Amino acid sequence: MPGPTRAEQRHQEALAQRLAEAGFVLPGGLITRKMRCGKPNCRCHAEPPELHGPYLQWNRSAGSKTLTRLLPADVAERYRGWFDNARRLNDTLRELEALSVAIVERDRRA
Ligand SMILES: [Zn+2]
Repeated sequence: MPGPTRAEQRHQEALAQRLAEAGFVLPGGLITRKMRCGKPNCRCHAEPPELHGPYLQWNRSAGSKTLTRLLPADVAERYRGWFDNARRLNDTLRELEALSVAIVERDRRA
């Protein structure tokens, strides 16, 4: 019989439920950085340098560009879970695509 099996239906429903519960999602990721400032006599330009920070840098791609924002530590902590949500959402979407592709491939050969 063409189309998804009962088991595949249940798998799809479980994945759809996970998609529905995704919550807020942020693209990209956070990295921790230490930096130099613009003041030439600052300790960050000494030898050896004492850099400022650590700062949390949020990188995300927008088309062909990478957008960069520095986030204060408290802000980064508040929204850190939203990056994890995005990863889970993407994993779930990939799994749903693979399930769907497998169904069509099987049907195509039948
Ligand atoms: Zn400095």
